[in-house]
Amino acid sequence: MRSYFFVTAAAAVLMAMAPPAVQPARAGAPQAHAQAPGFYRYSLGDYEVTALLDGTHGVDVDKLAVGAKPGEVERLLARSHMTSPVEGMINAFLINTGDKLILIDTGAGELYGKDGGLLLANLAAAGYRPDQIDEIYLTHLHRDHVGGVMLKGQAVFPRAVIHASKRDADFWLDDGNRSKAAPFLGPMFDGAQQVLAPYIAQGRFRTFSENEEVAPGIRAILSPGHTPGHAYYAVESKGQKLLIWGDTVHFAPVQFEDPAVAIRYDSDDKAAIAARQSVFADAAAKGYLIAAAHISFPGLGYVRDAGAGRFIWTPVNYSLNR
Ligand SMILES: [Zn+2]
Repeated sequence: MRSYFFVTAAAAVLMAMAPPAVQPARAGAPQAHAQAPGFYRYSLGDYEVTALLDGTHGVDVDKLAVGAKPGEVERLLARSHMTSPVEGMINAFLINTGDKLILIDTGAGELYGKDGGLLLANLAAAGYRPDQIDEIYLTHLHRDHVGGVMLKGQAVFPRAVIHASKRDADFWLDDGNRSKAAPFLGPMFDGAQQVLAPYIAQGRFRTFSENEEVAPGIRAILSPGHTPGHAYYAVESKGQKLLIWGDTVHFAPVQFEDPAVAIRYDSDDKAAIAARQSVFADAAAKGYLIAAAHISFPGLGYVRDAGAGRFIWTPVNYSLNR
């Protein structure tokens, strides 16, 4: 009796220690269908750059590409495991110089419907409020770069002064140009005029006409082609250089391989192609970092020369230690 009790007690202890019986596999939680907040930090000398995602949207590369050889777009997309429409990025970039917060481009805001407008949430996730932004510099006045300055008819940034090139402002803010432009460009004129109106009324919209230093270590460089006054912003600190190149690339899998493929939205596609070829060659030769509005988030990377007029994009390596 004694020994029976002992064996039974020992068996009970062993059973309690044993792992539970294996259950059949089943999905115990709903799928989340959401990503981490869209911000990514990168140190550039004394400056901190934060890439901010405003949204992603389907881009009809096959319909928008101009000047591609027959079958070229489909072949180059397939090589990157993509088909048209390709999910395209809307990236903006915040520079914290230590003294100032400077936002380069602002995303589409409400002008792309549900495909844009995440900039403010991602700015907040990155630890900043809109009233902390001192200056906004726009690469150009297309909707997906200027749209984020307005929300529900109100100016989003209560203190910031917005800057753009005079050539882009003169073109997109002029109703005479709108009446002469192709109808598909109409919403670009309307969008820019609508969202900039409160800033213009408050004297918070300024233009520059030449390449100029817009803040210590930050230069605006005119690069007409995609729009009449498209501009790059070069940021340099402690010998490190970043070029925020706006809309130099819309279809990365296609245009690095063949920079002569343009986009229907280019104001002057020959000038846009020449600008792209020139900046690709310069970035590859000098090895500086690029920040791109429409390359896969965070849109930070390097250009490598692959010979025969072809180039390769190399994204920055992800790091938690920034
Ligand atoms: Zn764009």
